[in-house]
Amino acid sequence: MGAQRSAYPTPKRWQCAAGKGVLPMKIGVLALQGDFREHRISLEKLGADVTEVRLPQHLDGLSGLIIPGGESTAIGKLMTAYDLLEPLRAFGQAHAIWGTCAGAILLAKNVGRDQPLLGLMDMEIERNAFGRQIDSFEIEINVPFIANPEQLYHLTFIRGPIVRRVWGEARAVLTLPDGRIIAARQGKLFATSFHPELTNDLRFHQFFLELAKSESTG
Ligand code: GLN
Repeated sequence: MGAQRSAYPTPKRWQCAAGKGVLPMKIGVLALQGDFREHRISLEKLGADVTEVRLPQHLDGLSGLIIPGGESTAIGKLMTAYDLLEPLRAFGQAHAIWGTCAGAILLAKNVGRDQPLLGLMDMEIERNAFGRQIDSFEIEINVPFIANPEQLYHLTFIRGPIVRRVWGEARAVLTLPDGRIIAARQGKLFATSFHPELTNDLRFHQFFLELAKSESTG
């Protein structure tokens, strides 16, 4: 696993002006199932004020939301049970959302089977596209859109999906050397097949905070 320590920003950078003072940016992590705690830790290292989102009212006042890895069918069923589908769709019209792995699946319009989805991004995803749990793997590649792009990033895939196709407003922003799409972006919506929250390298979380900040009122 990536043991590299991040040399990235001091927490101060992620503050935004609010009212009279300067407050940390408020970011939610959907905490229904999956590795939401790891995202929380990464965001807190960057100085964000993190809220665990389990109910629609927890979205109030957030500048962005992360949907973690886990099991997309389980997360989708829990989103339905807690009446979160419509509030999350509405949130995504105006705010940054980043889905990692299962979270990316939930952002897609089409996954080739019937399961609850937010359907916010113009992309088709294939679940478990690299095989079973035992086929999980790691790879180091350059990621052009994060800080210090010349420094390799350690990607972790755990029964991950691939993006089969993007259309409309969505763009493929990262591919494996063989051309398979592993990250896509549509405005402030961002999807990755892999798990930056499982490394100590904070550059993807930093990138997401930039996205969230770009539309925050602060
Ligand atoms: N295989 C899971 C799914 O289809 C995603 C795995 C993950 O999030 N690491 O939902």
